[in-house]
Amino acid sequence: MDKQKIMAKEKKSFIRRNLLTILTIIGVVGGTITGIVLRATTGGHWSKREVMYLAFPGEIFLRMLKCLIIPLLMSSVIQAIGSLDLSLSKKIAIRSIAYYSATTVCAVILGMILVVTIRPGVGGTPWSGDETEKVTRHVLTQDTLLDLIRNLFPPNIVQACVAQSQTFLVDPTNATVKAMGPEHWKFEEKYEPMTNVLGLVSFAIIFGIALGKLGEKAKILLEFFDALSEAMMIITSWVIWISPLGVYFLVAAKVLEIESFADLIGRLGLYFFTVLLGLFLHGFGTLSILYFIGVRKLPFKVIAQLSQVLVTAFGTASSSATMPITIQTMDRMGLDPRVTRFVIPIGATINMDGTALYEAVAAIFIAQLRNIPLTFGKTVAVCVTATAASIGAAGIPQAGLVTMVMVLDTVGLPSEEVINIIAVDWLLDRFRTTINVMCDCLGARMVDLLSVGELGALTEADKLNAEPQELLEISKEVDSRM
Ligand code: ASP
Repeated sequence: MDKQKIMAKEKKSFIRRNLLTILTIIGVVGGTITGIVLRATTGGHWSKREVMYLAFPGEIFLRMLKCLIIPLLMSSVIQAIGSLDLSLSKKIAIRSIAYYSATTVCAVILGMILVVTIRPGVGGTPWSGDETEKVTRHVLTQDTLLDLIRNLFPPNIVQACVAQSQTFLVDPTNATVKAMGPEHWKFEEKYEPMTNVLGLVSFAIIFGIALGKLGEKAKILLEFFDALSEAMMIITSWVIWISPLGVYFLVAAKVLEIESFADLIGRLGLYFFTVLLGLFLHGFGTLSILYFIGVRKLPFKVIAQLSQVLVTAFGTASSSATMPITIQTMDRMGLDPRVTRFVIPIGATINMDGTALYEAVAAIFIAQLRNIPLTFGKTVAVCVTATAASIGAAGIPQAGLVTMVMVLDTVGLPSEEVINIIAVDWLLDRFRTTINVMCDCLGARMVDLLSVGELGALTEADKLNAEPQELLEISKEVDSRM
C-alpha cells in the first residue's frame, strides 16, 4: 500500500515537473492529427486565407514572442556584461570571454558546415516558394558584408529597434551600363523594417562595459536592468506556457498547407538529425579539442563527473534553472569558488553554443525549404546573427525560439517561418541546453586550471590586506582591556 502511495506520488511529481513538455507534445500530436483529419475530410482544398484563419491563434503566439525580443535581449546582455567582476582578475575575465567567444564561433561554423553539407531542406518542391523574388536585391557579396558592419554600428539606437540598413542595387535603365554588370550599377542604402539585432547587441555590450567601469555609481542602473531582465524572463515563461496551444494551431495549419506530409516528416527528421549531430560533435569533439589545447588533458573524466548537471539541464531545458546544481557540483569537484561564481552565471546568460549552432542550422534549413539561394555574404550574415542571437537568448526553456525570429530576418524570411521547426523544437531545446551547460562547466574547469597562479596571488594579497586589519582588531581589543 505504502509502495503504491509512493509510486503515485512520484508519478504526480513527474507530471508536474514535465507538464510543459507533456502539453507541448500533446500540441504537436493533436495539431498533426487535426491537420490530417481536415485534409482527409475536406479533400485538402484549403485556400491561403482559410489556412491563415486556422493558424491565427498561433500567429498571436508568435507576435507575443516577438514582442519580448528587444527588452529581454537588451536587459540580459547589459546586466551580464555590466556585472562582470573585473576586480577578480582581468586575466581570468579575459580567459573566460576568450573561451566563450571561441566556442560559440566554432559551434556556429560547425552547424553551418553540417547544414550546407547534409542539406536537410533541399529536394522536392519548395514550400510556398513565393519568397524567392522578395529576397533578390542584386547585391554583391561585399555589399552584404558591408551591411553587416554598418548594422553593427547603428546611427540611431531607437531606429535600430525597428529598422536595418540594407544596400540595394538599382537596376539600370541604360542598356550599356546594365551589360557592364552589377559592379558598375548604382547602389542605394535603404532601411528595411526589421529589428537590427546586431546593432542592439553591440550597443548593449558597450553600454554594459561602461556600467561595469563606473562601479558604485552605476549600481542603481545595473539593479534596474537586473530587475528588468528577471521580469522579462517571467513574462517569457508565461508566453512559453501558451506555446502548446500556439503549436497546436501552427502545426495543424502547416499540415494542411504542405503538399506532401511524408516530405515534411522526412525533411524535419533530417533537420533534427543535423542539429543533433552538430551538438554531439561540438560537445565531444570541438570542446574536447579546445580543452586539450588549453590544459593538455582530455575532458571525459570531467564530463563523467558532470552527469547530474547534464541530466538536470536536459530535464529542465533551462541553463538558469540548472545553475544552482552546476555551481554546487563544481564546488564539489574542487574548483575555486571565485572562478565558479564568475564563469558559471555569465555562461548561463551569454554563452550558449548549442543555441548558436541550432539557430544557424535552423535558419539555413528554412532558407533551403523555401529554395532561397544563399550567397557567401548572406551565409556570413547568418553566422554573425546566430552568434548575437545566442548571446541574447535567455537561459530559459525555448528562449532560442524567441531569438530565432531575428535570425530569420537576416535570411529575408518572415518570422512566421518558425512554424516549420516548431514541432520538434521542444526536444531539440533539451539537447542544446545540455550542451550549453556542458560548455560552461568545461570553461570553468579550464579557467580554474589555467588561473592557478593568479588565484594564488589573489589569496596572498587578501592575506596581506587582512593583516593590518587583524592587527588593528587585536590592538583595539588590548586597548579595551586596559
Ligand atoms: N533553453 C536554452 C537554455 O536555457 C536556451 C534555448 O532555448 O536555446 O540554455
